[in-house]
Amino acid sequence: MLPQAPEEAGYYVYGTLHDAPGTGHLAQYAHPNLLTVIFRVEREWQAICDRKFGIGNISIDGGFAYDNHKSHQLGIEVDCRPVRKDYMTGQGARCSYRDKAYDRDATIKLIRLFLDDPWVKIVYFNDDEVQKALGRARVKSLMGHNNHFHVELWPRYAS
Ligand SMILES: [Zn+2]
Repeated sequence: MLPQAPEEAGYYVYGTLHDAPGTGHLAQYAHPNLLTVIFRVEREWQAICDRKFGIGNISIDGGFAYDNHKSHQLGIEVDCRPVRKDYMTGQGARCSYRDKAYDRDATIKLIRLFLDDPWVKIVYFNDDEVQKALGRARVKSLMGHNNHFHVELWPRYAS
């Protein structure tokens, strides 16, 4: 399970399982390979930005489909929030790429850190400017991805 964001972490956790309060951690079971990627990104993020980024749904224990996710069963997919211009964290710090609080430049930097990793296959995020900046081959639109981006490792890293 993803460590639930210790004080010194570069990320905070959000999300729920079946919309029940306080259940986010139950949907944060990650494959060790994904944890490796997240911890590397976190380290590099902390070197360039003092704001925390939000990590939401990964997988549930045992790897079944849940809530609105058709995917998210192998522990190699993670949803993250776009970066905000302020320091807000926690469940209420949601942010869409159309919001005033949205920091596009910082979000591009954060997604780039994920894409720098050869284990990362694809990112889904609907901000066209981000797709343009990072390349439409690896950042694509997908329904529902206005207020979070989805990072997915190549399937071979699920074994
Ligand atoms: Zn996702």
